[in-house]
Amino acid sequence: MADLQPNKPPRIELIDLAAQQARLRPAIDAAIARVLDHGQYIMGPEVAELEGALATFTGARHAISCASGTDALLISMMALGVGPGDAVLCPGFTYTATPEAIALLGATPVFVDVDAGNFNLDPAGIAAGIALARARGLRPSGLIAVDLFGLPADYAAIRQAAEGLWILADAAQSFGGATPAGRVGTFGTLTATSFFPAKPLGCYGDGGALFTDDDDLASICRSIRLHGRSTVDKYDIERIGVNGRLDTIQAAILLQKLSVFEEEIALRQAVAHRYAEGLGDVVQVPVVPEDAVSVWAQYTIRVPGGRRDAVQAALKSAGVPSAVYYPRPVHHQGAYRHYPFTGNGLPVSERLCAEVLSLPMHPYLAAQDQDYVIAALRAAIRG
Ligand SMILES: *Cc1c(COP(=O)(O)O)cnc(C)c1O
Repeated sequence: MADLQPNKPPRIELIDLAAQQARLRPAIDAAIARVLDHGQYIMGPEVAELEGALATFTGARHAISCASGTDALLISMMALGVGPGDAVLCPGFTYTATPEAIALLGATPVFVDVDAGNFNLDPAGIAAGIALARARGLRPSGLIAVDLFGLPADYAAIRQAAEGLWILADAAQSFGGATPAGRVGTFGTLTATSFFPAKPLGCYGDGGALFTDDDDLASICRSIRLHGRSTVDKYDIERIGVNGRLDTIQAAILLQKLSVFEEEIALRQAVAHRYAEGLGDVVQVPVVPEDAVSVWAQYTIRVPGGRRDAVQAALKSAGVPSAVYYPRPVHHQGAYRHYPFTGNGLPVSERLCAEVLSLPMHPYLAAQDQDYVIAALRAAIRG
């Protein structure tokens, strides 16, 4: 393990996008130049090519690119007909975009708790969420399961508990993840992902995609993405839609990044493994079921006992960046405080917000830099 050298810490990024860019820059420059040459900036040939590649990669029947992960959630729920009077269950421990899409459609997010072991929606809380929605006079119509930090939620158990509700997978952090049932993109009625730059597969701006095996839903999503236009007659506006297209330039960039993504997923596993080996005896490291693949959007440890902030400060003074995802559960945020949540609160979500700490994680994290992070964290924990 590397010695701690407080005077000369290595330059470590939480997520190092520059290392990947250095590797792919000539190919990306050429791909962008091709778009500038053909000039089809909107829905150009790269968009269809990317959608084909995403469908092949995931095994989903339909892959539909869109402008962001948030739009992917929104378009999915518009296609499902979500509106006022509907209750949509979602975890309290997630990014704000999850409940945002529900609330934007006039529906009511009903917050349920997560599992302390995998940070994902706890199937045991679904029945209470459905009952709470009914008690409020709402129609429980669906739920959004979030694959937090890159690990697919337990969809088999969620489906069993969901009493026939549709399931939208918020896979913004988990594109590339898998379970024995298949790859992310195939688990929900619909799956929404994000290509925000820092996500496991990111573009150089905003971008996203949604996935489904349902032909009718796919066709409705394609129409909504394009202002509700008919897919056969472009002057026929069949429904209210959005401007939700992915830029051709972003599709061109994503095609280049997708070509190395399998390899990057493997590199992420090696980084996660090194953290587990180096830290497992001093902090709570994330646990992935043996047959599942996390894509490690974040490597998130738990520092209990009210010591998280002190540990983060010690890391910072050693030159090690870290982040808290998320410092507050969404049902405590001002904009969402008035929406229902199960029980007297969501104790697991609330506790995780006080304990989680995400460490530098990206495919190009050098072993000696990672050893520096591990040594700094061990020193910080010892206090
Ligand atoms: C990033 C993220 C989103 C939103 O994706 P954008 O592309 O930024 O709109 C939604 N849900 C979760 C869980 C996310 O992490």
